[in-house]
Amino acid sequence: MSSTPQPIRGTQSLLGEDADRFHAVIAAFDRVRRLYGFKRVEVPVIEPTAVFARTMGETTDVVSKEMYSFDDRSGDSITLRPEFTAGIARAYLSEGWQQYAPLKVATHGPAFRYERPQKGRFRQFHQLDAEIIGAGEPQADVELLAFGAQLLAELGIEGVTLKLNTLGDVESRDRWRAQLVEHFASHRADLSEDSQARLEKNPLRILDSKDARDKPFAASAPPMVLTAEAEDFFAAVRAGLDAAGVAYELDSHLVRGLDYYRHTAFEFVTDQLGAQGTVMAGGRYDGLIEQLGGPHTPAVGWAAGIERLAMMIGELPGVEIIDASVIPLCPPAEAKAFETLTALRNHNISADMAFRGNVKKRLQRAVSAGASFAILIGDEELALDEVSVKHLHSGKQVSVSVSELTNYLWKALYPLSGMKIEGVNFVGNEAPDAA
Ligand code: ATP
Ligand code: MG
Repeated sequence: MSSTPQPIRGTQSLLGEDADRFHAVIAAFDRVRRLYGFKRVEVPVIEPTAVFARTMGETTDVVSKEMYSFDDRSGDSITLRPEFTAGIARAYLSEGWQQYAPLKVATHGPAFRYERPQKGRFRQFHQLDAEIIGAGEPQADVELLAFGAQLLAELGIEGVTLKLNTLGDVESRDRWRAQLVEHFASHRADLSEDSQARLEKNPLRILDSKDARDKPFAASAPPMVLTAEAEDFFAAVRAGLDAAGVAYELDSHLVRGLDYYRHTAFEFVTDQLGAQGTVMAGGRYDGLIEQLGGPHTPAVGWAAGIERLAMMIGELPGVEIIDASVIPLCPPAEAKAFETLTALRNHNISADMAFRGNVKKRLQRAVSAGASFAILIGDEELALDEVSVKHLHSGKQVSVSVSELTNYLWKALYPLSGMKIEGVNFVGNEAPDAA
């Protein structure tokens, strides 16, 4: 006897409310994206391994132990994307998108990391991603952060804090890096193994180490001293955020380990998801595109985990329900039922056919599907070219001629759609006879 296949560890299959929550996050993202003028882009799930290895850095957890990489049938090393930024930067160069700079783009989809699955942490997870490429101005950082903050607000996510820091420009950062190496090297033996290993290559990462052995030395590390230019840049970002009404907390230990990160670094964090508290993270990565062999191209972006956001959204903005359930009562009524379904759907009324079980069962199913109406068609209705409309909320039943049905349902569903109210736009709710 063969057993049924099981899912890959760290992957999810969603149905019903879970799927609705997931898509509510995407719908809000797509709405807010347009408010901020971010163009939608699509990039491949697979890229040459070098795209991630060169941009994300060999010393990062993602590249050193989390990537899904394999040789394809022609022996090329391919990687399932662990994030979006690298692929978008690759496309920016290979697709000639430089001509559109500054380019504001947004996308979402699956990403893959070989991690230990737990609450809010999967091997196939999904990200929302927003990037502004080819803009070195602090206004870009403000726009990007305001977008993120508004998205979280529209999702009704409470208790998130924007933590903000600056990593300075190349000069301030290089100087600080050297000071950190010196500081940590003088305590080398007392640091965690991980931190000892990354001391020279990635000393900034020790600052946000979760290991208790590292914490006292992170706390006593010398602070970064910004150049005047870097100071001005950060002041402009903060002033813009204040003006845009985006609240933040400064956090001098929020870092990005890799050298191509400059200036702004940020995370939106929550205390609601235990250890997986970061819901959105990003920063300015002015040196990344050079890493791929491109020209100097300043850019800033963020990514957010859809699963983590979906766990936190408040009230679901309307569960998916159908408006009407069409019930043919005898075999000859089936053709009329399909004809009716087509007419309803063409007029933006969602409908399905209840074709299984006795009439009582079919009505029960319509009610539990949230339908407002059952449309019954039997021999008598066929003879009169009518249908029987049962209002499932009140129980009232009326006969309606086939030609009047869509108008009748429309008016019952959207009683206000025929009225003119100053300043209110019933988009998509225009009555069929108003056209
Ligand atoms: P963490 O510290 O939680 O591992 P990270 O620094 O690896 O996060 P980023 O690379 O900044 O995460 O990715 C951006 C966002 O993507 C995270 O804030 C999180 O919401 C989400 N994310 C990252 N990895 C996973 C995962 N394995 N499962 C679910 N969501 C994830
Ligand atoms: Mg991670």
